[in-house]
Amino acid sequence: MGNVKNNLLRVQARINDACIAACRNPESVKLLAVTKTKPPSMVREAIDAGQSDFGENYLQDALVKISEVPDATWHYIGNIQSNKTRGIATHFDWVHTVTSEKIARRLNSQRPESALPLNIMLQVNVNHEPGRQGVDKADLPALVESTLQLDHLRLRGLMAIPEKVDDEERQLANFVELAELLAAIQGRFFLPGFDQLSMGMSADLEAAISAGATWIRIGTAIFGERH
Ligand SMILES: *Cc1c(COP(=O)(O)O)cnc(C)c1O
Repeated sequence: MGNVKNNLLRVQARINDACIAACRNPESVKLLAVTKTKPPSMVREAIDAGQSDFGENYLQDALVKISEVPDATWHYIGNIQSNKTRGIATHFDWVHTVTSEKIARRLNSQRPESALPLNIMLQVNVNHEPGRQGVDKADLPALVESTLQLDHLRLRGLMAIPEKVDDEERQLANFVELAELLAAIQGRFFLPGFDQLSMGMSADLEAAISAGATWIRIGTAIFGERH
């Protein structure tokens, strides 16, 4: 077994250490292995090392891997164009990047009848940066309200990709903001299973875990640089 297994062990150890530092159960934080641009053989290598959940950003590229490795759990984490919703609704288990009612409705109507509801996270623009993906904080309650009417979707939580900052206090502030938004929605709507926070990557996973992250998304540190 090559580097993928060793890298997974290293990342998992970092997650465990961060959980201990934050007084959290390490089982409450899951690792999403991001395989964009990487071959199916690497997905298989990670599965053989015990990894179950994989993230993809590009639909066409992902479909090849999903057909070769259907036993994995697949998460869509890229920007969603309307013409991609059918493929996403058909082949994925989770979507972390829903940012509009229009996209939510399309995923709902295109989810196959035979499949379980699609697990959905709403991506929030926590920095209020113009041009950045994500629903504005102010528009989030309306998006929750419209999405929770959709029977083929199951709202599971919130996701963010905050701006890159080195300062751990500022990283923490962005993650705490997302965690507080989750808590506010939990208080306002009846949403069983709405308890997931997809936040934190390799540069800021410690801050994300101390703020309550349940999904850490890591690519390069497991599979190497992308070319
Ligand atoms: C690519 C990507 C990641 C993983 O990034 P790395 O720098 O390779 O660890 C995580 N989250 C999202 C949304 C991504 O697009």
